[in-house]
Amino acid sequence: MTNATQRLVILGAAESGVGAAFLGKQQGWEVFVSDGGKIKQQFKDVLVAEQIEFEEGGHTLDLVLNADCVVKSPGISDKVEIIKKIRGAGIEVCSEIEFGFRYKGDSKIIAITGSNGKSTTTMLTYTILSEAGYDVALVGNIGYSFARQIAEKPCAWYVMEISSFQLDDIHTFRPDVAILLNITPDHLDRYDYKFENYVASKFRITQNQNTTDFFIVNRDDTAIQQYLTNHSTHATTIFFTMNDNISGSDGGFINDDRMRLQYEGEYSDMSIHDLAIKGKHNQYNSMAAGISARIAGVRTEKIRETFTRFKGLAHRLEYVATIRGVDFINDSKATNVNSVWFALESMEKPTILILGGQDKGNDYTEIMELVKHKVKAIICLGINNQPIHDAFDSVVDTIIETGSAAEAVQAAYACAENGDVVLLAPACASFDRFNNFEDRGEQFKEAVRNL
Ligand code: ADP
Repeated sequence: MTNATQRLVILGAAESGVGAAFLGKQQGWEVFVSDGGKIKQQFKDVLVAEQIEFEEGGHTLDLVLNADCVVKSPGISDKVEIIKKIRGAGIEVCSEIEFGFRYKGDSKIIAITGSNGKSTTTMLTYTILSEAGYDVALVGNIGYSFARQIAEKPCAWYVMEISSFQLDDIHTFRPDVAILLNITPDHLDRYDYKFENYVASKFRITQNQNTTDFFIVNRDDTAIQQYLTNHSTHATTIFFTMNDNISGSDGGFINDDRMRLQYEGEYSDMSIHDLAIKGKHNQYNSMAAGISARIAGVRTEKIRETFTRFKGLAHRLEYVATIRGVDFINDSKATNVNSVWFALESMEKPTILILGGQDKGNDYTEIMELVKHKVKAIICLGINNQPIHDAFDSVVDTIIETGSAAEAVQAAYACAENGDVVLLAPACASFDRFNNFEDRGEQFKEAVRNL
């Protein structure tokens, strides 16, 4: 693909776009970066330092439509005018992971996708490999972009978090090990509100795999099961499940509080209580990470050691403090209903739930039973909280509206008694009131510290 005279146009100058620009330049492309909005200073600095031409605040058609290849930021929807024009002109469009893949040499990739648990599983897998002494990088939605890592510091292994948007424009991208954690409704606005389109997008992770590659999948996930009854993959498929005890097959199994990972006849067995990260969802994430590490050749004792140490990431069921007997937990990253299901499922005390934000068309039916049994009060944190009232007014006696993280924490604390837990798990995006989920989580933690 390298051709010194070819023109690469990058749309969107954030982490992935700038990474692709950097790699493209290094590989001899004539590179041009175009961003419809304002480019953040940190990325502008890289473009200037690398002497890469760019524009911001709009796209100049003549400078874009003369591309041989366009790398599109995962944040840009196919529905925007410029993308329609590019596709209409027959120009190749690829995602940044596709572009990076073409220059990865003989390095190996463990790629992780799913609706929830990507970051946690990616970080856990990376930590296992890194603590086992591998030459490994953490890339994708977490850490550097894949392309930037290849350009700056190529490694033998890449553990990569990928979203469905990154998968939408792959052509040859083929991970050695692909993990599909789960599929529940999210981001449907980008998929014509059709769940099946979103499911198909997630399954692209395995589309180019062959029999020497591995596809690690959650067998307990309904959408995944359904898809696999009508579609096949060329990869060697390995399942993980909590509903079966298939000794003899390779896979991950949890039964009677014990987790068993089996690969090529060798198996490890440990108590789920020895996992440092808590909750059923994290048991799924651990099985997936553990099997992929086994495939990569890490010894079972090493995997177990990391499992007992790895504490998880901030803003994912993160314990904050206990104040006068009330626990505070920050799960700001719970931006959809399914992740709130797992958060509530793991609560062992009466719960005051801080819910709401920018609603993506949530259907709260999935958490109704858990709310009935575990939730004492709901504190609304969104600007428009009508969907929460519609769903829960007849189920929860106390529903309080608040206008900031600080107000929400104070209201929750006022409702709480010794022995309760206050859980921030909004089921919504944060952008109506906060910069992002990290900002929301930080403001929550700050408010708890100020109580
Ligand atoms: P992602 O990168 O896919 O958003 P994270 O690891 O950041 O995933 O976790 C996002 C949210 O989902 C957090 O609230 C976390 O507690 C929850 N979560 C983590 N793993 C899972 C899982 N396997 N299934 C459901 N929810 C999960």
